Amino acid sequence: MKKQAWQTALADLITDPQELWQLLDLDKELLAGAIEATKQFPLKAPRNFVTRMQKGNAQDPLLLQVLPHGLELNQVPGYSNDPLAEIDVNPVPGLLHKYQGRVLVTLTSACAVHCRYCFRRHFPYTDNNPGSRGWEKIMAYIEADTSISEVILSGGDPLTVNDRVLHAFSAALANISHLKRLRIHSRLPVVLPERITDEFVGWLRALQLETVIVIHANHPNEINDAVRSAILKLRHADIMLLNQSVLLKSVNDNVAVLKELSESLFAIGVLPYYLHVLDKVDGAAHFDISRDRAKQLAEELRKQLPGYLVPRLVCEEAGAESKHDV
Ligand SMILES: *Cc1c(COP(=O)(O)O)cnc(C)c1O
Ligand code: SF4
Repeated sequence: MKKQAWQTALADLITDPQELWQLLDLDKELLAGAIEATKQFPLKAPRNFVTRMQKGNAQDPLLLQVLPHGLELNQVPGYSNDPLAEIDVNPVPGLLHKYQGRVLVTLTSACAVHCRYCFRRHFPYTDNNPGSRGWEKIMAYIEADTSISEVILSGGDPLTVNDRVLHAFSAALANISHLKRLRIHSRLPVVLPERITDEFVGWLRALQLETVIVIHANHPNEINDAVRSAILKLRHADIMLLNQSVLLKSVNDNVAVLKELSESLFAIGVLPYYLHVLDKVDGAAHFDISRDRAKQLAEELRKQLPGYLVPRLVCEEAGAESKHDV
């Protein structure tokens, strides 16, 4: 079958540090460390996303999110490979059941972008990829537990799979009568907005479940015209749209930036949901800011914005029954 434009874009990510350095005219001194860092967690950045970065600026807030850095190789006390102990809440491959009433399903380990701060950067996805045969077990698990009312498709990025797989998955879900909602956590509407095709929107419209899409933007510069039109298409399909962000040093640890992010999201019809503090995953320590500083930022946001534009500042703790306010 002919590839769709989004699939071509997904197959044509920037993965070679040298190419990123050339495109953005970056300081060669950082290249050797970057190449080392990609051995642990490869570079992946969609071309359209990279066009939103400023040339020659190694501190660009979008670049920092995807830029492999020698600092990632430092071992820092308090950081680990699986900070949320997700391996313990993984009853069947591809399914995490951590909180009451909702389960998280990973259809794929692939993402269109590799966010250097990602808490799943070391997750053993290759052992945890359900494949379509594994779906039977997932469906059986959900079917057997009538307390589950929501299925969350999460990362990897569920929208990197093709529409045929999404159709098959939702068709299997449709047989489970106690399900009310399907939630999709995806960075694609932001980093690869080409993904939001008419066919995809058609699938959403036809779903028999209430549908929520939680996008992931950390900085207002991420929202360009392509993102705006992708979101508009989703809104026309009556999809509830929320955003989650991660609080990241030098990217968005700043009241003006967070405020502008909320306002830019609202302008395209997306409400802020969570602002996560960084999970202490190996390789991400250079993004950390103190809890006190995080609380200060949240407090300042509450002063400057209407309540509905203030995301909840939350952290995750292994074994906890929900995400916690910080
Ligand atoms: C974050 C998360 C959820 C969703 O939590 P909400 O507070 O409902 O957004 C569900 N399952 C897992 C495993 C999660 O990490
Ligand atoms: S898109 Fe999400 S799951 Fe994928 S690397 Fe980024 S934060 Fe992690």
